[in-house]
Amino acid sequence: MDIASLRQRLEYLVHTHSSVFAEQILNSGLSCVRCGWCCRENFNIKVTKNISRPSNAISVFPDDIRRIMKGKGLQWDEIAQPDIYSCLDDGKNIRVIGWILRRGDNGNCVFYRNSGCSIYEWRPMICRCYPFFMDEHGIEVMYCEGKKNNIGEEKAKDVAKEMAILVKRYEMKKTRNYIGIISWLGEKLRLSDLLQLPRGYGGEVIVCDGDTISRLSMKKENNGIARI
Ligand code: SF4
Ligand code: SF4
Repeated sequence: MDIASLRQRLEYLVHTHSSVFAEQILNSGLSCVRCGWCCRENFNIKVTKNISRPSNAISVFPDDIRRIMKGKGLQWDEIAQPDIYSCLDDGKNIRVIGWILRRGDNGNCVFYRNSGCSIYEWRPMICRCYPFFMDEHGIEVMYCEGKKNNIGEEKAKDVAKEMAILVKRYEMKKTRNYIGIISWLGEKLRLSDLLQLPRGYGGEVIVCDGDTISRLSMKKENNGIARI
């Protein structure tokens, strides 16, 4: 991943109308039935030989965290933790790329309560987009239970249109964040260099989320954080 190709990607997104993606979303036949499958820990995804990432390790933007803080009166630390599945050890520091939503002892998102999302109105962008992401060929569809949602043709078109705008916005934001992160880490970053920290890791880390860089001390028991 280098900054030039990320900028190219951003250009492509800026100049591609969301209706292109709406059609692909509509063709998937999926729309959310709020089953909560994607909020629960289901399986691990083998990202590299060093990284086995839970299916619900959900990356969030700093703006997502601030919105939930404001809406629910929570502290940063109660919402998110450094992304322990996306780290680099340069021999001096553990550098962490971004944030993930906190998960409880059962592995589920801490906001998944009584079979539903307890922060639905303020939920992160990624949760609003799921199961739709983008790859270089267009819309990429993740596993989803939403096939059973028979909402009718017209409604499905409206939902796909709205979703396409959201997914495009998400992808642009993510790309801009990557540019900030790569500027910090340097262009030589390779996926195979990344490592994961143990779930109960306790120690100092530096987190870069594309927006800010923070030096933190992670608490051993639950990956809570103290800012240094
Ligand atoms: S996006 Fe799919 S898997 Fe997630 S809650 Fe909705 S229907 Fe379930
Ligand atoms: S924030 Fe809500 S929608 Fe997102 S994973 Fe947690 S419970 Fe699910």
